[in-house]
Amino acid sequence: MRSPRRCSRNGCPRQAVATLTYVYNESTAVVGPLAAFAEPHTYDLCEPHARSLTAPRGWDVVRHEGEFEPPPPTTDDLVALAEAVREAARPVAPRPPEDDKATNSTPQTGRRGHLRVIPPNH
Ligand SMILES: [Zn+2]
Repeated sequence: MRSPRRCSRNGCPRQAVATLTYVYNESTAVVGPLAAFAEPHTYDLCEPHARSLTAPRGWDVVRHEGEFEPPPPTTDDLVALAEAVREAARPVAPRPPEDDKATNSTPQTGRRGHLRVIPPNH
């Protein structure tokens, strides 16, 4: 399901190597290395767009000054952690009906269904 991340600018076909994050309460646009996964108010950018980004009026830009590098092909620990969390948050599949008879009177404890993805605050 993982595919190469593309620049979020309209019509730009290049691979994303940086993530732009708008920090609204500080009026700052942060251009940093590609984030492990997308979050609200973040935009993936290719190198030319990351380098040429200018802030809206009244905003500061904080730009990563090193090389932007494409994400490594191997899964790093952070990605593995994120996927483990996502896995735990997945809704539990409904049980087949014949299973229900056996467990009907048993309190349902220890299920993973209580874990839910919390929507971000806006
Ligand atoms: Zn681009």
